[in-house]
Amino acid sequence: MNTRLTSVETQKRMLVISVAVVLLLSACIALYVVKSRQTSQSTPISPSGELLDFEDLVRSIIPGNSAKRIVRIYEESDGVDGELASVEPINDDGSKWAMRYDAKDHYIADGAGYKNLDGTITTIVHEYAHIEALNETQVDHGRYNLEDGELALKEGAAKRGSYIKRFSDLFWSEETKRIASSDTPPKEFKKHVYESLPGQDNIFFTEYAATNEVEDFAESFAMFVLHDEEEFSSETLRAKYRFFVTIEHFALLKQRIIRNIETSVK
Ligand SMILES: [Zn+2]
Repeated sequence: MNTRLTSVETQKRMLVISVAVVLLLSACIALYVVKSRQTSQSTPISPSGELLDFEDLVRSIIPGNSAKRIVRIYEESDGVDGELASVEPINDDGSKWAMRYDAKDHYIADGAGYKNLDGTITTIVHEYAHIEALNETQVDHGRYNLEDGELALKEGAAKRGSYIKRFSDLFWSEETKRIASSDTPPKEFKKHVYESLPGQDNIFFTEYAATNEVEDFAESFAMFVLHDEEEFSSETLRAKYRFFVTIEHFALLKQRIIRNIETSVK
């Protein structure tokens, strides 16, 4: 029992997948946010008229059959900025997950509402994308000897045909991986990330997406869910967007999430 707990604890520390606040992130997103489905002045409320807190918001937005893997949502702060939220598997096979959020990053100080509701919703959808990509149907947790057609992740082996493996095959060449993992990515690589010059083929939706294929998947999924394809001119960004469009599971998930947001955010 103790050994198992120790193993799970070690795994949990290793597997925290988080949204780091990049100071440029809001500026980056602003480049691409042409229109938004909500405004920061909107308020998420329950049918009885009460403000939805972060946990209520997650439960309201993520469809029930998808959210069943999130068995725990808890608050833990590292101060203003830093990590906004994170998810981590809480069992050995990755079928059950916890989501942590930092109240200081999401709520205004007096608890009367959200600092930036659009940002909070984007964070929730981003974190949920990790669970979609890394749950037990997609990744063999804790197995690191790869079989043909699999992808090595820190969580274990992403299975052949898994969403993240397919995404990686399409958008993460060995050269992209090499540059992204270097301590000092060349200027040219970063330029692709946050400059949106006419005619330039941006390859990442945000600077944070350039971290690795797992974060790119989550950022791209959030853009797919919360925006329209026409908002993006880059061929690569549109291809990333369409990756999700062509997978029926994600197309349906988007419809349900959008409907849920429209129902719960007034
Ligand atoms: Zn993430």
